[in-house]
Amino acid sequence: REKAAWAARFEPAATVDGHRVEVAANLGNTAHAADAVERGAEGVGLLRTEFIFMAHAQAPDLEAQIAEYREALDALDGRPLVARTLDVGGDKPLAYWPVPQEDNPFLGLRGIRLALTRPEVLETQLRALLMAGVGRPLRIMLPMVKDVAEFRTVRVLFDRLLEELPEAERATDVQLGVMIEVPSAALLAPSLAAEVDFFSVGTNDLTQYTLAIDRGHPELSAQADGLHPAVLRLIEMTVSAAHAQGKWVGVCGELASDAAAVPVLVGLGVDELSVSARQVPLVKARLREFDLEEARARAELALAQATAEAVRDALEAR
Ligand code: PEP
Ligand code: MG
Repeated sequence: REKAAWAARFEPAATVDGHRVEVAANLGNTAHAADAVERGAEGVGLLRTEFIFMAHAQAPDLEAQIAEYREALDALDGRPLVARTLDVGGDKPLAYWPVPQEDNPFLGLRGIRLALTRPEVLETQLRALLMAGVGRPLRIMLPMVKDVAEFRTVRVLFDRLLEELPEAERATDVQLGVMIEVPSAALLAPSLAAEVDFFSVGTNDLTQYTLAIDRGHPELSAQADGLHPAVLRLIEMTVSAAHAQGKWVGVCGELASDAAAVPVLVGLGVDELSVSARQVPLVKARLREFDLEEARARAELALAQATAEAVRDALEAR
């Protein structure tokens, strides 16, 4: 199976009946973009830019960031890059950006909340992304957004940069979206969908915050299953709100590469799956095993269950 998946890795990702679902790669290092393409990735669906920052002794300046982003964009050669702005705090400390001691770091200053405490860092990052993206399809997304207010703050900054930078010196095929990884963002997806260009569901954090289980907890994390019907309902709300406004939805958490979850996510209407580069051929092969009708039936079946275990059992039985 693995051999067949590898041989077909450059075929476009689609279900048996030709329903296209983009399969992209998650990346923490821009030097790995070429490898992702070699494994059949149709783009990068999540560039975790915090790892670029962590690899430096201090925040990389404008020029250094442009060089980093350009490396990925060059390797992608016209395929889209979804870059996530700096997502530190919580479980991801950044040595030169200390966060005061917190009782609950996962509920504290992290993601976009932390970034907005130093808007000049975010501004430099957005500027670098825009400047690196000349002539390339560039998607930028914000982590840990809880409602539209945070998005609007960044939108103002972003629109000012678009005004300031001459068109010939910046990306013009550019979208600004948000991650859906906090339950409030999924619940309020209709108001977000009216203003953002796209959503990408971060099922790792969305599951953690929906089930109130630390994603790294030694005893409990096994129960933090993204196929939990509560999480699936939030994904369903997210997709229907996005599609009602003509916006696209990706999934970039680990659930996107779970063989049982792939048809469920497709059935819920997800447009893009972003997975580790290693998994790209396998996820493409998984898509070729069912049609859209079967995917929809599986999504409905999963949504009707009461626990994650029941979802897995029901999918298995089918
Ligand atoms: C997620 O939360 O699902 C996600 C993709 O982001 P990260 O794993 O980097 O927190
Ligand atoms: Mg996350």
